[in-house]
Amino acid sequence: MANKNKFQSVTGMHDILPEDQKYYRKIYDVVSNIAEFYGFGKIDTPIVEETELFAKGIGLATDVVKKEMYNLKTKGDDSLSLRPEWTAGIVRSYIENGMHSLPQPLKLWYFGPCYRYERPQAGRYRQFWQFGFEIFGESSSVIDAQIIQIFYNIFKELKLKDLIIEINSVGDSNCRPYYKKLLSSYLKSRESSICPDCKRRFKENVLRVLDCKEEKCQPIKTEAPQILDHLCDECHSHFKEVLEFLDEIELPYTLNPYLVRGLDYYTKTVFELFSESEGGCKNALAGGGRYDKLVKLLRGRDTPACGAAAGTERIVSLMKAQDIEGAKEPETQIFLAQLGSMAKRKGLWLLEEFRKSKVRVAESFGKNSLKAQLNRADKLGAKYTLILGQKEALDGVVIVRNMKTGKQDVVKIDEVVAIVKKRLK
Ligand code: AMP
Repeated sequence: MANKNKFQSVTGMHDILPEDQKYYRKIYDVVSNIAEFYGFGKIDTPIVEETELFAKGIGLATDVVKKEMYNLKTKGDDSLSLRPEWTAGIVRSYIENGMHSLPQPLKLWYFGPCYRYERPQAGRYRQFWQFGFEIFGESSSVIDAQIIQIFYNIFKELKLKDLIIEINSVGDSNCRPYYKKLLSSYLKSRESSICPDCKRRFKENVLRVLDCKEEKCQPIKTEAPQILDHLCDECHSHFKEVLEFLDEIELPYTLNPYLVRGLDYYTKTVFELFSESEGGCKNALAGGGRYDKLVKLLRGRDTPACGAAAGTERIVSLMKAQDIEGAKEPETQIFLAQLGSMAKRKGLWLLEEFRKSKVRVAESFGKNSLKAQLNRADKLGAKYTLILGQKEALDGVVIVRNMKTGKQDVVKIDEVVAIVKKRLK
């Protein structure tokens, strides 16, 4: 009964509590350092965009647009949606801000929440954080390899174990229609044996049948024609070059002819990254590919592009499973203890003096017992505790206690910052 009145977070959405922030901070630090090294500029786009942008960009028949979008109508009758992914919004921004006139390739990265109305389960949330990288204005296969390398390097730097890259090509408007026809006619002869979901996919987006995880569909998939055997010359040589680049930089990849990705905008290369170690989920950590037609589709100039996104929650859960630490908390070297109201006032002033001098000081102004404050200082691993009692406050001095030896001396309050700074050196 009591619980009935309690508010709870919305299904599939979660708080990131202070104790978990260190994982998110570590990921952010690694990602932003790598982004800087490779010359990416950070972009933030609004969480909300016109629904039509996603419908057109991601594809009307995709699960993301059909079933998973958070749609809303404004008072002005605009149809808006919470972003289910970042790329469509970034492409909108690229076009709207005339970024094609900047030196190309233009490299952008991002970090922020996305929203998908999916069935919540391990590794699948309705609000989740993604970071990602996009490169515009370059059709060379080296870019595809570089994007993969960036994600691999991020995961390596985070010390995630047993990383594996799965890669495929989904062709382009030259060769994909023919392959789709081939796949459709193959599946038509086996339609009675595929699962109900695949029957739907067969009608809406036949490539997605290849993605099916149902037991009964596996033998049908194995015998299906494979897209890699039906790529046009351009897609074939592009894909070959990507693999050669990956060989050159010695990244561990496997070809996965069933990898098609859930969004419609991909052309040529598609890939996903996983961790295969214990504790690793079967869910991908990151996924992406080339999307040479998206900028034009969203009413911009014909601009080749390539990018990928990673899910932060999945990485955090893997870091925990693999005993990988988050960002280190800064050490507490100084603790300020006070006794009495005058000492509290002086203490508030002294704390600011330390802050201005960029020396971290912890305190427990709420505690009044010296013993409790010294215990807290011990727990935090402070090297020195500064003790300010009524008498010290009146005399304008502070007791400096060495927490290791227990030795104490008295110094002038005006000089304590400089003295402590010297002792910490
Ligand atoms: P996608 O473009 O859908 O493959 O998403 C890219 C990455 O975002 C995935 O590899 C996941 O790591 C992450 N991701 C996607 N959907 C979810 C979700 N519902 N919950 C948590 N992470 C997700």
